[in-house]
Amino acid sequence: MQLLDGKFLSAQVKAEIKAEVDKIKAEGGKTPHLAAILVGNNGASETYVASKIKSCEEVGFKSTLVRLPETTSEAEVLSHIEALNNDADIDGFIVQLPLPSHISENTVMEAVAPEKDVDGFHPINVGRMCKGLPAYISATPFGILEMLKRYNIDTAGKHCVVVGRSQIVGLPMGILMQRNTAPGNATVTICHSRTHNLKEVCQSADILIAALGRPEFITADYVKEGAVVIDVGITRVVDESKKSGFAIKGDVKFDEVAPKSSYITPVPGGVGLMTICGLMTNTLLASKKAIFK
Ligand code: NDP
Repeated sequence: MQLLDGKFLSAQVKAEIKAEVDKIKAEGGKTPHLAAILVGNNGASETYVASKIKSCEEVGFKSTLVRLPETTSEAEVLSHIEALNNDADIDGFIVQLPLPSHISENTVMEAVAPEKDVDGFHPINVGRMCKGLPAYISATPFGILEMLKRYNIDTAGKHCVVVGRSQIVGLPMGILMQRNTAPGNATVTICHSRTHNLKEVCQSADILIAALGRPEFITADYVKEGAVVIDVGITRVVDESKKSGFAIKGDVKFDEVAPKSSYITPVPGGVGLMTICGLMTNTLLASKKAIFK
């Protein structure tokens, strides 16, 4: 078993981005600038946004945080989006999900200008990705592809099972794994809560990507000997022994699955760190106008 080490890889990717940013600045170019809109006080969202801002500092980007109260109306959020769309200094921005229930996530995602949609959630970016055209690829699938690539994991002809079909993780992951490129060319099965015989389907996976948000759901009996196991799940569970009062759990029962797998991502220290690298890479691409000319 080999660990897919997100800590090591993310440091490597960030160092590469920083070297490029340093060069842009040395040549008198514009500093890449990422903005984030955070609505409300969701604890996990606060943590994610804080680490995105910290990562901006690490790679030499400018960052701006637009913090809005829980009671902000959808119209007010849309007007902040409009302002960022029109702000020439902002290369890309994200609206941290989830949003309070009175705000439609689809309406918000569609309001972000596609050329600044560094989360890759706008239908134009999703559609372009499906067609294999240049697009911002959503950060988590992007980070997973980067891990597979940097560990030289051969995916061609392999059976890849993705558990979860969300718009931001499962669905794009499945589409990307079947593309005629590397990593890709896998035979993909996307599973969800209505899938029959989930365990048997997972047992046939050469590459198993768990993105269902059910802590430690994938136990050893779901996993084929020698499979590559990617754990996307991040769930806070109560743990009185921790200072914070909670522990972070993945969707995979690591201790029993690890000995059966050829490669496996830990949680924390795996996919989450690579997701932030996906966002940083997309922001750099936005600042270079590399996707939308
Ligand atoms: P969603 O809740 O949007 O989607 C979960 C998916 O899993 C759904 O498609 C659902 O099926 C499916 N599912 C749920 N329970 C089961 C089950 N028992 N059997 C089979 N399928 C099931 O979650 P996200 O995709 O947003 O996130 C998934 C996990 O990944 C979460 O823990 C989240 O915190 C984490 N995450 C981690 C990131 C990272 O950077 N590491 C980034 C984003 C998310 P159905 O569609 O039928 O409801």
